[in-house]
Amino acid sequence: MTESAAEADNAAVSMDKLVSLCARRGFIFQSSEIYGGINGFWDYGPLGAELKQNLKALWWQRMVRDRDDVEGIDSAIIAHPRTWEASGHVESFSDPMVDCRTCKRRFRADQLEGERCPEAPAKREVRDCDLTEARNFNLMLQTQIGAHEDASQIAYLRPETCQPIFNDFKRVREAARQKIPFGIAQIGKAFRNEITPRNFTFRSREFEQAELEFFVHPNERSQWFDYWLEERLAFHQSLGFRDRNLRKRPHSDDELAHYCARAMDIEFLFPFGWQEIEGIHDRGDWDLSRHSEFSGKDLSITDEQTKERYTPMVIETSVGVDRTCLALLANAYREETLEGGDERVVMGFAPAVAPVKIAVLPLSKKLGEPARKLQHALRRRFNTFYDESGNIGRRYRRQDEIGTPFCVTYDFDSDADAKVTVRDRDSMEQERVAVDALSAYLAERLEASE
Ligand code: ATP
Repeated sequence: MTESAAEADNAAVSMDKLVSLCARRGFIFQSSEIYGGINGFWDYGPLGAELKQNLKALWWQRMVRDRDDVEGIDSAIIAHPRTWEASGHVESFSDPMVDCRTCKRRFRADQLEGERCPEAPAKREVRDCDLTEARNFNLMLQTQIGAHEDASQIAYLRPETCQPIFNDFKRVREAARQKIPFGIAQIGKAFRNEITPRNFTFRSREFEQAELEFFVHPNERSQWFDYWLEERLAFHQSLGFRDRNLRKRPHSDDELAHYCARAMDIEFLFPFGWQEIEGIHDRGDWDLSRHSEFSGKDLSITDEQTKERYTPMVIETSVGVDRTCLALLANAYREETLEGGDERVVMGFAPAVAPVKIAVLPLSKKLGEPARKLQHALRRRFNTFYDESGNIGRRYRRQDEIGTPFCVTYDFDSDADAKVTVRDRDSMEQERVAVDALSAYLAERLEASE
């Protein structure tokens, strides 16, 4: 498929439909909804929490547990304020902002294109508003520590998860007895006081990142950059993203952070266009050198064999967990017209990320007891869901809409022949399977489609 055909295809997944499905089925919805919501903050409901957990577990498995050269950590959200001076965030983590003197709203000065003024009835383009001069707005969220309200107590909610990794570099390397090259990874919350949060969870004020900082010898930075780029692309492909929905985009020279030698975004084709879900960055020795300087602790290392003393270079992979969840939702959504004219919405998640793996459905409420027993046996191995209300066709549709790969139906023959019907979400084909063999059968089918 050509790129423009893929764009047309994805545009068909309208954000309105996706946002409405997410709220209705309990994937993701506005935080503090009963108070009218709070801009830039989102809550994950029962299905969204499972989707996110699955994604984080897959990342952790592949980036930490499957490797000898990466250690996982879980650092505090609030770091010593000097951290953010060393990293440059206090001085320059800002976006240019303008105010509209009429409607009093704030906008990103570099994103005015197509932006509309909410002032009724004109709904005019923001460009035509009475705008102030652009000025820089620091995106870090501040908080106060302790009982005194003076400037010395100001702290920041971390705007990225990587800086605490640099703070912990020496301790983790020594504790884990690691040698260069090796990496430190973590998943956690980050906060940015975005001027204009938008596109559902895509640009939020609170979000999660999964980051790896990989420390290498200066001579090896280029090959490790290439390695991690390919490795991260392979990860996204393993999540079930269609090839046509993923692409790499190198940063141009004027986009590169001043400390960055090379950067590549991995982008997904969202319904609102191609956008970054992950960045791979060659950060050089900027971070460790700056933290050495600001903390007064030497973070350079000595090569045991060559006795060379140097500050390691850092290759970073930084993926947004929420953005990837949103991409998984957009990637999975499809509408189908079936023979006979019925319509169905299917979330075609890869089984590894699907929030619910197996739904157990008794054909009639009278079969509730043995069906429940079956669910209890299966739930030890898979995340299951039990549903006995409504006709079976409607129950199948409800599972299709949340992306459950298999439905297991207990019917009036099941007692006699000790078999149940397994229905496949995508093909809708049904097969009779012996209850004894069910768990192994489902495990095999779930793995086979990964
Ligand atoms: P953008 O240019 O879109 O603001 P960025 O280049 O500032 O993103 P990074 O600082 O490289 O992003 O952060 C790494 C990842 O963290 C991004 O690829 C994205 O997935 C995620 N991320 C960053 N900002 C946000 C946000 N406001 N909301 C949700 N996810 C975010």
